[in-house]
Amino acid sequence: MLIKNGKVLLFDKENVSIENKDILIKEGKIVNIADDIDISGEQIIDATNKIVMPGLINTHTHIAMCIFRATFEGCNLFTWLNEKIWPIEEKLTKEEIYKASLFSIVEMISTGTTCFNDQYFMPEETRKAVEEVGMRAVLTRPLMDTDGSDVNEKVQEFRNFYESRNKENELINYSVAPHGLYTCSGSCLAEARKLALEYNLPIHVHFLESVDEISSIKELHGENASSVLKKYFDGIHTILAHGVKLNDEDIDIIKNMDCGIAHNPVSNLRLGCKIADITKYQREGINVALGTDGAGSGNNLDMFEALRTACLMQGGIHEDEGRITSKDAIKMATINGAKLLGLEDKIGSIEVGKDADIILVDISEKLDHICMLPNNDLLSNLVYNTSGRDVDTTIIKGKIIMKNRKFEQLDVGSIIENVKQISLK
Ligand SMILES: [Zn+2]
Repeated sequence: MLIKNGKVLLFDKENVSIENKDILIKEGKIVNIADDIDISGEQIIDATNKIVMPGLINTHTHIAMCIFRATFEGCNLFTWLNEKIWPIEEKLTKEEIYKASLFSIVEMISTGTTCFNDQYFMPEETRKAVEEVGMRAVLTRPLMDTDGSDVNEKVQEFRNFYESRNKENELINYSVAPHGLYTCSGSCLAEARKLALEYNLPIHVHFLESVDEISSIKELHGENASSVLKKYFDGIHTILAHGVKLNDEDIDIIKNMDCGIAHNPVSNLRLGCKIADITKYQREGINVALGTDGAGSGNNLDMFEALRTACLMQGGIHEDEGRITSKDAIKMATINGAKLLGLEDKIGSIEVGKDADIILVDISEKLDHICMLPNNDLLSNLVYNTSGRDVDTTIIKGKIIMKNRKFEQLDVGSIIENVKQISLK
């Protein structure tokens, strides 16, 4: 496959640039990036008036939660979980999780996401949907026990899920996910550590998202959050979802561990969790990537909205211009995400040797793009004036999943219809 005439987003160490290049793809991998590649007999994608960029990486979500979209009004995080989410989740069937997962995969691909890091129950159903579409994902069976459930049972469910994986499928990776330090006892966290070491997998955990969590963790473990984190997960690569409430002591502990942060700006604002100081975290050398969280709290899975919001909200806490820039945000949504998920050798940038996870973003001069015009700065417009709806084509490991906003393999109408039938009563 040859992608011709595009404006290609490239990383060169610290620099981010957009250059006119062609990209040659063979057997799912990028094999050449050059000014004018002319090879006959290849499948040619004309990328005129399009930005060609790495697929976006959503580093924290719960995709089956799309069914809870727009249910948060008038709640806070704890009442929302206790009254609106958990009672309904108890009744969800396998079929419903599968249908909701498939729906969200369509939403992600149509808005430019090619890889997501998920944490939800009945993950076999999400995996089925991921395999069916050819999506890239990091999956798990989360662990928790403060709700009275049996840790051993959950650990066994994780083992069954992991052991039953298709080892041939390179698009699916795994994590061990203790849900949060406030929802897992010490023995549950110890089991998570054991699993991560046994299978050599990263940890994916909710961490200091809201103010209530700080006291809950102290009550449950008798120590503050970052001490608990260090006690159980030191030496293991750990993906911290949120990290909104880090104080200086937390930052000191985390930057000396193998940790990074999945920042979910829209979800944090929607739930009234305030603003994570990612400018400071980056200055301290902590890897920060982006996510949407589930659509219940994050509204949607559009990573372009996360990009824009992440940049804008830093202006709410930093008056100096040294805060996060468009370039930083683009890296967060791509290469930093790949690093956070331990996949930087395969994805996160357009480079020879990497897998071809690529999206084409339409920037043609038309009424729909009037907000980008005049297009004085492609990178700035990509962050501040682009929506997931501008994504024209999505390619995962060299396979076209969506082209010109059309899915050839999927019946989108019936996927939407199936999710509308899921009851929230
Ligand atoms: Zn979450």
